[in-house]
Amino acid sequence: MAFRTLPVCYVFLPAGVIPGVIPGVISGVMGFFGCVARRAGLRWSPGVSPLVRTSARCYSSEPTKEKNVPYEKTLKEQGGASAGPTKPLPRSADAVVIGGGSLGCQTIYHLAKMGMTNVVLLERDRLTAGTTWHTAGLLWQLRPSDVEVELLAHTRNVISKDLEEETGLHTGWIQNGGLFIASNKQRLDEYKRLMSLGKVYGIESYVLSPAETKDLYPLMNVDDLYGTLYVPKDGTMDPAGTCTTLTRAASARGATVIENCPVTGITVREDETGVRRVRAVETEHGTIETACVVNCAGVWATKLGDMAGVKVPLIAMHHAYVVTERIEGIQNMPNVRDHDASVYLRLQGDALSVGGYEQNPIFWDKVSDKFAFSLFDLDWDVFSANIEGAMNRVPALEQTGIKSTVCGPESFTADHKPLMGEAPEVRGFFLGCGFNSAGMMLGGGCGRELAHWIIHGRPEKDMYGYDIRRFHNSLTGNNQWIRERSHESYAKNYSVVFPFDEPLAILPP
Ligand SMILES: Cc1cc2nc3c(=O)[nH]c(=O)nc-3n(C[C@H](O)[C@H](O)[C@H](O)COP(=O)(O)OP(=O)(O)OC[C@H]3O[C@@H](n4cnc5c(N)ncnc54)[C@H](O)[C@@H]3O)c2cc1C
Repeated sequence: MAFRTLPVCYVFLPAGVIPGVIPGVISGVMGFFGCVARRAGLRWSPGVSPLVRTSARCYSSEPTKEKNVPYEKTLKEQGGASAGPTKPLPRSADAVVIGGGSLGCQTIYHLAKMGMTNVVLLERDRLTAGTTWHTAGLLWQLRPSDVEVELLAHTRNVISKDLEEETGLHTGWIQNGGLFIASNKQRLDEYKRLMSLGKVYGIESYVLSPAETKDLYPLMNVDDLYGTLYVPKDGTMDPAGTCTTLTRAASARGATVIENCPVTGITVREDETGVRRVRAVETEHGTIETACVVNCAGVWATKLGDMAGVKVPLIAMHHAYVVTERIEGIQNMPNVRDHDASVYLRLQGDALSVGGYEQNPIFWDKVSDKFAFSLFDLDWDVFSANIEGAMNRVPALEQTGIKSTVCGPESFTADHKPLMGEAPEVRGFFLGCGFNSAGMMLGGGCGRELAHWIIHGRPEKDMYGYDIRRFHNSLTGNNQWIRERSHESYAKNYSVVFPFDEPLAILPP
């Protein structure tokens, strides 16, 4: 039942202390989203948005202690690394992919599909154990870059069509559509630019008026809307279904997927011309000789880089969403991105998952190797920044309980773009990491480009924006620069994208 950890909510008003009650438990007066907002010093009146800060506060114990992903099935149940490798290790391989999350699974699938079948994926725990298992899984088809639109389109094809045709299995893809919210003309103009770009690629999208938006999404507050962009064929990916199906399809073509097998070292040798090259991948269970390693280890990618003397300039941060209790009338609604409020609302059956990008994200400085299928406690002081925007957009949330919290690690980079391609320091050491909370939706497109890069020596598309070589090597080892810039790019994730916009973070002289 909702709110079982929070039976009473006290509202402190200037005049005194009024004990309030939590709906779902006693009277239905105040929903838990409402309570969190009050705790954060926010007061909201339906229809009179935005929220205004007041001295009213609602003090309570933790809103919910439950940390759990909203998925029906995860691969956590299959048991952890203590069981030993799920298959014997081969002596050699043409390529070894490290990490069984979205990127590793997509990469091995595409390598095998493009004909490189003597390939191995090594996962420390079970597939998806890092970040992928708790992803929100949103896939939007429109981004302000033609290459990215193509990458997203490929992911969508793979998970909605190709994999099903190849394996007969459903990946769990749900096409519930996507709705971008514009609160001002500038934002709607940005969406119109996206729509124009999408037209070139045949992506169906519509600019809707506030009234049309209300027809589509009756629970939405449209009073402060300027307009919206509706993309009916956007949708939601399922992490376990996607990764299982990808590895099934890769294995059917001859690839080997080995779980419960942590990589402990990477052998690098200098050749006769002084070039450093990958020679082997080491594990506690044996060594695989190979000239090609693909680092798809998510927030752990920096550690894998260290094993080979390669700098991987990413930083781990907490990223979170909360899962609500049931909301009457929310079924079949599209996912929502309210960029101006920096929040997203993901449909979760008859409930919503609510997440966003805060100005003061929490860094995960001591990335632990023991972290598998794990979640952090949610910091409500940070997360409450998202509540205001969410309640403003869907007022029913104020009366809705929070069932569980999902706060996990994700990697962020200095320019909010992934790190891909062959590392300049070591030949045969490829990167497929640093996905800035877009690694599910970009996974298919990037997996294919990586496979092409490995097999043909270069990607098929213009991937310069993602290529690790875009950074000067004096910066890739500068932790302060990586931290400052990554923080900025996290906080500005939903900002309007202007041509030639430049980051603000600077290094001290
Ligand atoms: C709360 C939240 C919501 C998100 N929502 C979305 C969304 O809506 N849409 C979207 O596209 N993206 C979203 N993301 C981001 C997306 O989930 C990630 O970008 C993606 O899952 C990263 O995949 P990955 O394969 O790079 O990393 P991971 O999934 O972390 O995979 C790396 C794997 O490497 C393994 N590993 C580490 N070290 C070793 C070793 N030494 N040997 C062997 N294996 C090792 C780990 O166990 C792990 O399984 C979200 C992220 C978070 C945290």
